[in-house]
Amino acid sequence: MALPCLSCGKDIGLDLTFIIKNPISKCPFCDIILNFTVDKDIRNKFSKALSDIEDIKKKYEKTTNFK
Ligand SMILES: [Zn+2]
Repeated sequence: MALPCLSCGKDIGLDLTFIIKNPISKCPFCDIILNFTVDKDIRNKFSKALSDIEDIKKKYEKTTNFK
């Protein structure tokens, strides 16, 4: 699920993964600073969930196509 820029509404491909990895980023269209700094615990939980998903994918990639 990608979100547009919160200021100018242009699609800059914001999604949860990007926000977690880049909590503070700049819109290339309107130069606004987007600050998504979230609670550290939430970020850790999300990172853990992402790596769990990667582990599951690796485990089953030989038999299942996740595309
Ligand atoms: Zn913008």
